[in-house]
Amino acid sequence: MIQHLLFLVLLVCSFGVRADDQAITISFVGDVMLDETPGRTIQQGHDPFRDFEKILAASDLSIANLECAVSAKKGKPEEKPFVFKAHPRVLPVLKKHFSAVSLANNHAYDYGEKIFLDTLSLLEKNGLKYFGGGRDIQQAHEPLVFNVKGKKIALLGYSEFFPRSFEALTDRAGVAWSEDDYVVYGIRRAKEVHGADYVITFPHWGFEQEKTASKRQVQLARLMIDTGADAVIGGHPHVTQNIETYKGKPIFYSLGNFVFNGFDDADSNTGWLVQLMIKDQQIDWQVHEAKLDKQGIPRYSRAIPAAEVLK
Ligand SMILES: [Zn+2]
Repeated sequence: MIQHLLFLVLLVCSFGVRADDQAITISFVGDVMLDETPGRTIQQGHDPFRDFEKILAASDLSIANLECAVSAKKGKPEEKPFVFKAHPRVLPVLKKHFSAVSLANNHAYDYGEKIFLDTLSLLEKNGLKYFGGGRDIQQAHEPLVFNVKGKKIALLGYSEFFPRSFEALTDRAGVAWSEDDYVVYGIRRAKEVHGADYVITFPHWGFEQEKTASKRQVQLARLMIDTGADAVIGGHPHVTQNIETYKGKPIFYSLGNFVFNGFDDADSNTGWLVQLMIKDQQIDWQVHEAKLDKQGIPRYSRAIPAAEVLK
């Protein structure tokens, strides 16, 4: 009898534990630029992600937008107002905290194709997965799929902030450009070919310093969800933007800067880490606020109540 009771207790406990275990936590941070003062911080032996280390480590996946090229080679900068190239010494630090980085942005290709290809090779050598960029258009638009607790999570990155010369083509490495047709193709492919249970898109878009998403951002985010995306996490405007729930799915239009120096205003020095909690087709979320210091390093500020984020 006691044995039967014990068995029953174990059975109940194991069901309880298993139900909890199935929740998947994914952390996203916004723009991470590791040239200039953030790069020097790493060179001096400091870890720019230290304040968020515990949150990132407690997540099943942690994802960042890597807003710079990475190479020890000199290369030739593209003709544009700001160009960023980090030293490869930053990669072990990134690898320590992140499962993957998105390359779909307006800085990964700042030093042209050769340095972009070097960036890809260095990421691979350091075991850091990437998406939203590749050696050709096919690879750039390929979803990155993780198996987490028996579920397939697919990540797709897209950029639509100029210059378009960064775009991956059939015969050129580069970033995934968010033409509507390509986005629909990528999301469908993630679901139908890769069997993804959840698809999350990470677009790089919108207008700099705008606190509210543009019409184009809203249109594209809704298209992504209409096609099958379960969450949209955006970046680029250097400030956080409004969020929206569309068909029950969260859209974070911009997470703002996360590691980035060179801004004087408070809005540009405020970024979000968004944690998605996924379970039974439901996505819940929590926002943690970072305040960037003078070196562009995020300092933990607070967990923001949902009501404040939705305001
Ligand atoms: Zn950007």
